[in-house]
Amino acid sequence: MDEQKLRNYEIQKVENSIWNPQIDEADLATECVQCGKPIDGDGVSIEIEERRYYLCCSSCEALFREEYEKLRTAADGE
Ligand SMILES: [Zn+2]
Repeated sequence: MDEQKLRNYEIQKVENSIWNPQIDEADLATECVQCGKPIDGDGVSIEIEERRYYLCCSSCEALFREEYEKLRTAADGE
């Protein structure tokens, strides 16, 4: 696994998507990173490689982990 590559890949992803710097991360910690729905109350928070992600339910968590694995694999491969 190449940490640096993964990081670059993530930065690329962010640059390619719509980035709104006006949104303060601290104010918006309660949105599901998988489906984008607001999380009220019973969210799931997971930590991968020292970064915290919030998800609305365990099925989103499973999907997110799956996609994260794919991203890792993509960053890892050629
Ligand atoms: Zn969700």
